Amino acid sequence: MLAVQFTIETAIRVAYLIAAVCFILALKGLTSPKSARRGNIIGAIGMLIAVGMTFTHGIHNLIYIIAAIVIGVVIGIPAARLVKMTAMPQMVAIFNGVGGGAAALVSYSEFIHSPDPHSFAIYQIVEVLLGVIVGCVSIAGSAIAFGKLQELMTGRPITYPFQQVINGVVATAIVILAFVVVFSPSVSILLIIAILALIFGVAFVLPIGGADVPVLISLLNSFTGLAVAASGFAIDNTLLVVAGTLVGASGTLLTQMMSKAMGRSLPNILFSAFGSVVTAASETGGEVRPVRSSTPDDLAVLLAYARKVVIVPGYGLAVAQAQHTIRELSDELKKRGVEVFYAIHPVAGRMPGHMNVLLAEANVPYDELKEMDEANPEFSTTDVALVVGANDVVNPAAHDSPGSPIYGMPILHVDDANAVIFLKRSMRPGFAGIENELLYNSKTTLLFGDAKDSLTKLVAAVKSL
Ligand code: NDP
Repeated sequence: MLAVQFTIETAIRVAYLIAAVCFILALKGLTSPKSARRGNIIGAIGMLIAVGMTFTHGIHNLIYIIAAIVIGVVIGIPAARLVKMTAMPQMVAIFNGVGGGAAALVSYSEFIHSPDPHSFAIYQIVEVLLGVIVGCVSIAGSAIAFGKLQELMTGRPITYPFQQVINGVVATAIVILAFVVVFSPSVSILLIIAILALIFGVAFVLPIGGADVPVLISLLNSFTGLAVAASGFAIDNTLLVVAGTLVGASGTLLTQMMSKAMGRSLPNILFSAFGSVVTAASETGGEVRPVRSSTPDDLAVLLAYARKVVIVPGYGLAVAQAQHTIRELSDELKKRGVEVFYAIHPVAGRMPGHMNVLLAEANVPYDELKEMDEANPEFSTTDVALVVGANDVVNPAAHDSPGSPIYGMPILHVDDANAVIFLKRSMRPGFAGIENELLYNSKTTLLFGDAKDSLTKLVAAVKSL
């Protein structure tokens, strides 16, 4: 009997090890667009093994568990299939929040279902507390981030007097009550802590706005990882600890990389209420200044007779779903001997890697995509920079205007090119809500209209030359 138990126990451990290796390989795969799809499948296989192994633990309430899985599948598959690429950050936010909430519930129920919470060792109570607090902050914060990105509420920072002080008081209350629970375990105090952590999650996210929400989502993602790891310790499940730690570590690294890409420190992103300053003329009713606009036929000549054209894609390319048409234009230009490549800003679009995914969908060769550091030195020898639905990522205010909310964010130096063409629909600003001086530069010509329509006209005009 002992031998049989040992065998089952060993099989579960081996399966968990395989699942953990799958998660690590999945992360490795996700580091490049070429291997991302494979990475995703490996991760899904690891998760299937992990979930399957749970059923070998002699679980109770099988009907509830199966019902929950069915509900998850019925909601999750259509949501993932139908979500628009532009709505992906909201989806990540809400899925992440649900993960944090689940981790909080696992830790909480481990505590309340114990026959005697006083029998918990201190380290076990700390694990439960970490799972509950971090998980609650994560689900509440993610719900607000979802509301901001889905435009269910204003995307601008919501500030009120003594905000940081109030947040500090709530955080301090959580810490003090946590100490109380450690030394005198109490279910009702744990419940109060959970409610305060939910309030803190909301209060923490309200003042974060504008272009900082993606960094926040990445940070909340790492919180969820920590909550999952803590709940793994609480229920003594190694795989939850490993998976949670991987999510926590990768989320932290992504947060750091995104902060760096925006040229800001994490505390500045979290506490400066970035985006509350609105300077765009369109929003302030400021004076209307002249810009130069042109026709597809004239711009086609400029592009077709250029030696080197650099395409700068941005959020508008995704909105217009113009990825196939931009590729068509680039193919036409290449046929005419023009050197063409794409300059990719790390936060162009609305999610990390947005432009890479979009252009990969149109089968743009990976070697034509250049990262910001590689692309920037090229602009001084570029004849035409073609900016398609991008704005903040080329806005010179990032290095010219110390007062600007995007000051310090590294940008693509399209203003170094000989000529700049902007494809956009109007003079409205980008995500950060601020004026872009480059639109008024003497080098700049605008082609107003939906990016897909404008590109279709440009392709036809280039072909007819
Ligand atoms: P921006 O949001 O700065 O600008 C988008 C531009 O696209 C606007 O000028 C808009 O002008 C234009 N546009 C929108 N729809 C269309 C359309 N159908 N056809 C043509 N043009 C269109 O985008 P960027 O990519 O330059 O910058 C990304 C911003 O988003 C940064 O501030 C970044 O910090 C933030 N962000 C980034 C995330 C990420 O992880 N990548 C996630 C969330 C936010 P008009 O309305 O006049 O057409």
